[in-house]
Amino acid sequence: MGARENVQKIKERIERACERAGRDPGEVSILAASKTRTPEEIREVFEAGIRLFGENRVQEARDKIPLLSDLSIEWHMIGHLQRNKVKYAVNLFDVVESLDSKELADELEKRLSKVGKKMRVFIEVKLSPEETKHGCSPEEALELAKYVLSLEHLKLEGLMTVPPYFEDLELVRPYFRKLREIRDNLEDALGVNLPHLSMGMSHDFEVAVEEGATIVRIGTAIFGERMY
Ligand SMILES: *Cc1c(COP(=O)(O)O)cnc(C)c1O
Repeated sequence: MGARENVQKIKERIERACERAGRDPGEVSILAASKTRTPEEIREVFEAGIRLFGENRVQEARDKIPLLSDLSIEWHMIGHLQRNKVKYAVNLFDVVESLDSKELADELEKRLSKVGKKMRVFIEVKLSPEETKHGCSPEEALELAKYVLSLEHLKLEGLMTVPPYFEDLELVRPYFRKLREIRDNLEDALGVNLPHLSMGMSHDFEVAVEEGATIVRIGTAIFGERMY
């Protein structure tokens, strides 16, 4: 895998993107998207200096996260979260990036209050119409954000999106820009601080950084191609 070299290259690319955008590279964290990767591979990436890891499926997280409990990893849930898996998710994850409905917020609140824990959450916004994608619509984001802010055990910190794949990277830029605009509008409308924008993957993270990403979620460029 060559985790150390891969991470180093990504950091350099983030630094250059920050330079182009007049941003401080210290504002951008790399999250390693570790779905399908073994605990050994995850350890290697941790050794290379990565502290944020993201999993997409609760069952896979239940298998892997306990085997890595000796590492100070911040675990993010970045895949669609089913309500019947929330009871496990609250014990596994530090951040849920894929909050996309009031029903899910309610279930999280219920389970978190039982275990007496607060959870950092991002709202996932769906900016394109593919049926396979999750997330609330841009129109729903204000009401959902207001609702989440009313819940005692949820701490709303930002937004996440998964835009469509484009070969031509300039075509993805408007999606990242749109997420930032939605975040800015929410901050104005609700008078809150929403510092995080989780956007950008292996092929488009530099554009995401230029448009304000604070977390880029990277799988392939760190671990190599996924084998399913
Ligand atoms: C897999 C995944 C990523 C990383 O994808 P790569 O193209 O391998 O970098 C990022 N975000 C989410 C939600 C993912 O499922």
